Amino acid sequence: MSQSRLKSCIPLPIDHKILVSVIEKAKDWALMHGVGMRDKKHFNKDVIQIAPFVLLPSPFPRTEFNKAVELQPILNELMHKVAHDDEFLEKTLQNALQVDEFTANLFDIWVKVREEGITQPISLGMLRSDIMLESRCPHTENQCAKHTPYCSWKQVEINSIASGFGHLGPVSKDIQSYILRQLGHGDLIKNMPENRALSGLCTGITDAYDLFGVPSAVVLFVVEEVSYNICDQRFHEFEISEKRPDIMIYRKTLNEIYEETRLNEKKQLILEDRPVAVVYYRSGYEPAQYPTSKEWDARLRVEKSSAIKCPSIHYQLAGTKKVQQALAAPGVLEKFMGAGATTGRVRDIFAGLYSLDFDENGERAVDMALADAERFVLKPQREGGGNNVYGADIRDALLRMRHSRERAAYILMERILPPLVAGYVVRPGAAVPPPITDLVSELGIFGVIIGTKDKIYCNKQVGHMLRTKLADANEGGVAAGLGALDSPYLL
Ligand code: ADP
Ligand code: MG
Ligand code: MG
Repeated sequence: MSQSRLKSCIPLPIDHKILVSVIEKAKDWALMHGVGMRDKKHFNKDVIQIAPFVLLPSPFPRTEFNKAVELQPILNELMHKVAHDDEFLEKTLQNALQVDEFTANLFDIWVKVREEGITQPISLGMLRSDIMLESRCPHTENQCAKHTPYCSWKQVEINSIASGFGHLGPVSKDIQSYILRQLGHGDLIKNMPENRALSGLCTGITDAYDLFGVPSAVVLFVVEEVSYNICDQRFHEFEISEKRPDIMIYRKTLNEIYEETRLNEKKQLILEDRPVAVVYYRSGYEPAQYPTSKEWDARLRVEKSSAIKCPSIHYQLAGTKKVQQALAAPGVLEKFMGAGATTGRVRDIFAGLYSLDFDENGERAVDMALADAERFVLKPQREGGGNNVYGADIRDALLRMRHSRERAAYILMERILPPLVAGYVVRPGAAVPPPITDLVSELGIFGVIIGTKDKIYCNKQVGHMLRTKLADANEGGVAAGLGALDSPYLL
């Protein structure tokens, strides 16, 4: 079956001369408004280059967008409940822990923190649910009853740590609005939804800060040794500094946290003689970010402290692929959400998700994937992109792991096939104008939730981001150089 298509927001191609001129303007606009990143290949801390972006906003059906926005608080609450269900997390992760050292280390921290007694019952969740339109229709052979080039959308995953693009999401709307105006299509901007992700996410941090309630306290961003996605992170700092000049923000690596912080007798995390109110992790989600035991010790210290963590360790565990798969198993959503209509709506957004544990279901999933590998994605318990297995490699991986316990560290997911849209991708250093290429998009909806096990202080949807990649690429990480910034054009 050929992949269906959505129509670009304006007719393509754009006249060569106009295109070259608008791209030159747009690149300068990008550099001057923080649509940028540091270059991984030729790293120089003092140089920021444009982040890749799609010239025109990609079409996205309005009803499906609204549905995603509406569902976000429900997903936030679901994640909150999952993160606070010790028994469920333990049971769900137990097999993966046997073979996945990274997840096991996170889990150990959680066990230690609970043994010692929770110092800070409040968690700050800044979540991002990533979704893709599904062009294949489950209802009929190959055409949707609605006669649209998409049927619905499915969730790719939900991120509970370092959910980025709070700045790059909204600014993608701004740059594409500028481009549309330059092309004489300013009237179309009304179809691009408002995006207040940056202020919404930052309000999550400042609300948590106020709940902590110590006027001299500071906010700590946990960052990588080198932050390539520096614009996105810094704009969070700029936003907080503008709205709340009373709040001092520090950026520290896990190693620096090990060296420069301590816990006082009240279990406050002390940095430069001041207590830390909120710890916001933009690092700490992958093994390479913990090169020695010092980083793990630093993580444990933070988790033991009274600082409000985004995320706390149990929230990070709730964001694993294994938990996502377990939630899709029969009866599990009902346990968290009851049996009402809302539960049905959430179930509908799940693609097929299968455990690879050593039981009847796991064996069936292995057989299914071996028979038709192209239908699936094989996922380990990792974040940050570039870890999944696709296509023929799934067969090789499963044949290799068939009788190895390693298998339990993976889940199998039905591959989503989004509709194509033609467009131009502007990349740093690439020839101008770029060719027209077939693209597919992934929409991320941001949610903020603050609460304890029993009380939710705040739960809302706060904005979105859109990433777009070449239709034949498996993954589309922007920082990884595969994807491009984009924003939705509602149909
Ligand atoms: P990570 O936590 O590393 O971002 P994801 O589950 O989001 O892991 O997978 C990374 C990327 O792989 C996604 O952004 C998407 O482009 C692609 N991908 C993941 N799962 C699917 C799927 N079921 N169907 C199609 N593409 C997928
Ligand atoms: Mg992720
Ligand atoms: Mg992802």
